[in-house]
Amino acid sequence: MQRRKRPEKVPSILTRGPNADGTEPDRYNRSAVREALTEMYSDGEGCVICCYCETRLAVKRQAQVEHRKPQKHFPQLKNEWTNLHFACGDCNGTKDERWDDANPILDAGIDNIECHLRYRAPDTLDFRIHYVTRRGKTTICHARLDREALEEARQGIYCVVQRYLMELIHLPGGTSTVSETSLAKELPGKFSGAHGSYLRFLWESYGLPILEKD
Ligand SMILES: [Zn+2]
Repeated sequence: MQRRKRPEKVPSILTRGPNADGTEPDRYNRSAVREALTEMYSDGEGCVICCYCETRLAVKRQAQVEHRKPQKHFPQLKNEWTNLHFACGDCNGTKDERWDDANPILDAGIDNIECHLRYRAPDTLDFRIHYVTRRGKTTICHARLDREALEEARQGIYCVVQRYLMELIHLPGGTSTVSETSLAKELPGKFSGAHGSYLRFLWESYGLPILEKD
């Protein structure tokens, strides 16, 4: 999970209020809302990421509008901008109507995620995500962030970074040659992409520099 900046401007479709007969129609899945969520969860490469598991999603086919506070318990928040996120089918489906009032699931638009969820040091080869607070525990439990597919995705990122580190070791000439390698230049864009929180964690663990793009 990673912190995301929510666009300040509320999509106007969400501010219309109830119909004349007092009913509140579903507006959360309208195109203007999805566009605003696309901005919030963009991976910078034409897709978006899931607010919980950071999996890359095609905007039209895969990104589902997620109510952090479930509609069943908070029907009055179904069109509330700050309650809406993009999630993958796995996270959205498994979370469903679950809600813990005492220790609510983390909010990507508000919470400092790193205070609640951690990764273990790279050398441990532990690709799981771990909680450090009760809200972190709720988040892992409700969105099933301990599922195997996510560990495999992080392992894939670990391998890419390891290859990069090996390149660095074998490159002659030190940092001037490092600046020519693509992985370092594509950052920090990739930190906001798929599994970006893990990539950032590895990058910082190894003390690697972030280089300016040409
Ligand atoms: Zn997900």
